[in-house]
Amino acid sequence: MKTNNSPWLTQLHHEREIKILENDHNADVVIIGGGIAGVTTLFFLLTHTNKKVILIEAKRLAHGATGHNAGQLVAEFEKPLIDIVREYGMGMAVRGLGAVESAWELLDEIFEQTNLDVSWRQFIGYGGYAEFEQLVGDLETEFIKHEHGLITFPILVSYESQWFEKIPEKYKKICREVDQRVITEFLDITGNGYHAALPQKKGVMNSALFTEKLAVWCLEKYQDRCQIFEESFVHGIELGTEKPIVITNGAKAICSNIVLCTNGFENFYIHTQEGLALDTKFHHALHGAVGYMTGFVSSRDLEPMANYYYEQGKKRSSDPFTSDPYFYVTRRDFEHPEGFKKLVTVGGPEMRLENREIYYREFDVAEEFHNESIRFLEDNFNTKGIEEKFFWHGLMGYTTSGLRLVGREPLDPRLMYNLGCNGVGILPSIMGGRKIAHHVNNEEIEETIFDPKR
Ligand SMILES: Cc1cc2nc3c(=O)[nH]c(=O)nc-3n(C[C@H](O)[C@H](O)[C@H](O)COP(=O)(O)OP(=O)(O)OC[C@H]3O[C@@H](n4cnc5c(N)ncnc54)[C@H](O)[C@@H]3O)c2cc1C
Repeated sequence: MKTNNSPWLTQLHHEREIKILENDHNADVVIIGGGIAGVTTLFFLLTHTNKKVILIEAKRLAHGATGHNAGQLVAEFEKPLIDIVREYGMGMAVRGLGAVESAWELLDEIFEQTNLDVSWRQFIGYGGYAEFEQLVGDLETEFIKHEHGLITFPILVSYESQWFEKIPEKYKKICREVDQRVITEFLDITGNGYHAALPQKKGVMNSALFTEKLAVWCLEKYQDRCQIFEESFVHGIELGTEKPIVITNGAKAICSNIVLCTNGFENFYIHTQEGLALDTKFHHALHGAVGYMTGFVSSRDLEPMANYYYEQGKKRSSDPFTSDPYFYVTRRDFEHPEGFKKLVTVGGPEMRLENREIYYREFDVAEEFHNESIRFLEDNFNTKGIEEKFFWHGLMGYTTSGLRLVGREPLDPRLMYNLGCNGVGILPSIMGGRKIAHHVNNEEIEETIFDPKR
């Protein structure tokens, strides 16, 4: 068994002073949850509205999924785009993906305004496919993106595989045949077992460090309108009163609007005006999956990378819970006190949490997940000069719609959500934060695929 040991948390400011919610407070908006969703929501509320905002975090900022992910920046949905089109229609599906893509610009906006000292890189990453069937669903997604002006690049298919002849005519214009060695080179692997590579706009960032530094910036810049309380577990929300009340162990926060940025697993009750508990419905709309990661350090100079790989023999389905795992590998600069300069991380193995089963970050990690990542790395990469240093896990919240929930609760619009990560949540959280500021400003907002429904 191995202890949960995330590299992202090692870079946080551990002596930072925190405040606990000990006395009652009033604010316009209370945000619950201090991960990337909560803190970017805080940022956009402060910079785009004149509201007074309080953020309440049960533990320390950025120690949830935000501090236990792979840190790949990517604007995509795990759910196939064609399924979203079937459910919501082409217009809404394309607008939804466009909204997630807009998070690249929002990230630029944050860095321009704050000058945060957090390193992040943007580049092209690649998806690798060992079998033709694994590629088929993504052809339609890329085709829709191409036809609707979203970010897309030609899919590379090797001459040697003869896959190109099998590609339906309609998709040929978004594919390009190349030598097998080009694919092997882009995927940066040792063998020739992958025959197609799908380029994507990607980036890497320590989302926990970003979240912590952005929170500190908000506190300094907006001293009159911003407060953050940590180690303050919220155990209830009262909506039956004239003004919504957030109740912690120590005190209350009274406000006009509440935004849940809890990733979906908050363990508190929500009483509505009718006295009904909203949470019984709400909680069952989310399923948890625990994702496992292994991290290696190196002093070798390695180019940044953010790729994923569908291995030989692995089956894909539109439901992430029934699909075989794919592996995602990232490389990046990483300042480590022991002098290491690069970090290589491998993720893929996941374990589903049964209904209402509680996840603890303190859980040890089963050896089998670790062995699976090591096996994948050794099968596909040159592991010379890298040393295993980290092993961690985090909780992903899967909504039943397979999409993030962003917007107002239909039963009581004073309650809002920016949650449900579905495994790809960094850019979607940022998009959600901006959208919440539009809501709080009471701007007219088109219906979206992220709207909470009952
Ligand atoms: C293994 C793994 C790999 C991933 N890889 C990627 C990736 O490469 N790219 C990507 O885009 N996404 C990835 N994700 C998803 C991404 O990390 C999340 O979508 C994102 O961090 C979610 O941020 P959040 O703020 O919504 O949730 P969290 O970071 O989990 O924050 C929620 C916060 O709410 C607090 N909270 C909960 N209940 C209460 C309460 N009752 N009172 C007060 N506070 C409460 C929690 O303590 C927590 O700090 C990955 C996730 C995992 C687990």
